[in-house]
Amino acid sequence: MLAVSGSPQAWEAFLNDSGQTGNSSWFRQFLTTRSPQAATPSTTISSWNCDIRCCQNKAVWIPGGCILCNKQLYADHLQPLFHSCPTDEVRRLTNANVFQKFCNSRIEQAQILEPNAFVRKINITALALLASGLRNGVPCDIRLPHTSDDKARWMMGSNNLHLNVEFADGVKWIARIRRLNANAPPPKVRDYMITSEVATLRFLEKTRVPAPKVFDFALEKELGNRVGVGYILMEKLSGTPLNWNTAGQEHKRKVMNQVADIYLELSRYPFDAVGSLDTPGSGHIGPMVTKLTGVDVPRCASWREFSTRYIIHILNLIQQREIYIQRPVDAYLVHRYLLDLIPIAARWTDGWDATSGFYLKHADEKMDHILVDDEYTITGIIDWESAYTAPVAIAFNAPMGLLPVREFYDREDTVAGDDHVFLDILKSGEGRNFTGGLLPGRQLHRFMFCCGFDLERFWDDFETLFKGFRDSMHVDEGLGWAEWKKVALKRYLWYDEDHLFQFE
Ligand SMILES: [Zn+2]
Ligand SMILES: [Zn+2]
Repeated sequence: MLAVSGSPQAWEAFLNDSGQTGNSSWFRQFLTTRSPQAATPSTTISSWNCDIRCCQNKAVWIPGGCILCNKQLYADHLQPLFHSCPTDEVRRLTNANVFQKFCNSRIEQAQILEPNAFVRKINITALALLASGLRNGVPCDIRLPHTSDDKARWMMGSNNLHLNVEFADGVKWIARIRRLNANAPPPKVRDYMITSEVATLRFLEKTRVPAPKVFDFALEKELGNRVGVGYILMEKLSGTPLNWNTAGQEHKRKVMNQVADIYLELSRYPFDAVGSLDTPGSGHIGPMVTKLTGVDVPRCASWREFSTRYIIHILNLIQQREIYIQRPVDAYLVHRYLLDLIPIAARWTDGWDATSGFYLKHADEKMDHILVDDEYTITGIIDWESAYTAPVAIAFNAPMGLLPVREFYDREDTVAGDDHVFLDILKSGEGRNFTGGLLPGRQLHRFMFCCGFDLERFWDDFETLFKGFRDSMHVDEGLGWAEWKKVALKRYLWYDEDHLFQFE
């Protein structure tokens, strides 16, 4: 059963003070009455407000932002009486061809309308004048995507719009502009993300890590910003995004060697807290931006503190009905369990926290933020949005892209994938003496992966991942989801066998 011994008293006191560990009453009420009105008032600062007139509530993170009507909605206002757009859930359950066609056309329409509206907000003339001014008047050309198809392609699947800035003398820059659709974070968080990305890039300029140089930036509502949107003007690096799946073994090894060198370089710059750089030109660390918590979790003095605050915040969001509104109980039980496991997970990072500080970590794990030339020489690392500082065991862990996905989900810890090769490379390199904390890599990955997982949309994946995690931690080992849920309901919500039938 659960082993939570070994947690420092200070942390137990923190947990008790926060009132979260014992605060299961809302869920007990929810389970008994199934009354959605029972949500606790919101404490978040970085979520949207509901778009329904006079509604004082916070919108749901996912799927509260509807891309079809471009609205942010509170849980109750996602109901058909207030909101008629077909949800993913409805689409999944309705097989009728006509209905699917109707949905697809609505989505296509939204995909055209959104970029149109967005592009209209950008003052291209002002942006071109500004770029020219920064280069002593060398004229430049900034082209917007022309056809609707172009626009849809440009916008889809990416949080940022990249405009090419081409100067008359051949120099090329990029204007990076954050998308403003219903899935985007609120303005306050967007501004923080721009500031933090610039602070990160400015920091990297001091290092030998190849990253784009920043020439200028402005926040959306900044006084004197005539461009109309928040932007970063930066150098355009050569090279194409790395595709790990098509690279040969020799090329992979070459890339891993270079990534190890980049880690070594980053290991020379320790920071004093867990979070994200928040002030361009200084090494100051502020809150870390995460998908589910925005900037609501402050900078932390250790990874243990960060994961505790992070999970408690997620538990709060569940109780406030701002996330996981389709599976509140499952999500609550999972995160409540993860909270209990922090003392165990933290052992992998403890000891590194105090002695070696925290290091910059790129937030993208897919590897396509690495640009390479034809010979697989890294030309640059891009997209530093949401980069954060973390202890050695996380900052210099093998990127997710290197993990054998199936084995990772299924708990296999036999190290045989590219991550193993990467570890060997890290260990063999001269001066790379920071590898001691890397061995629990996959378990740490699983732990962080389970926190805030999109379990409403990818439930099957989650079940496998969560079981693999429990098995590899040897806590509640071997139980399938249904069995585990019974145990967890009893443990966290004090439900006995007589009540369990309700949840099966
Ligand atoms: Zn509302
Ligand atoms: Zn809608």
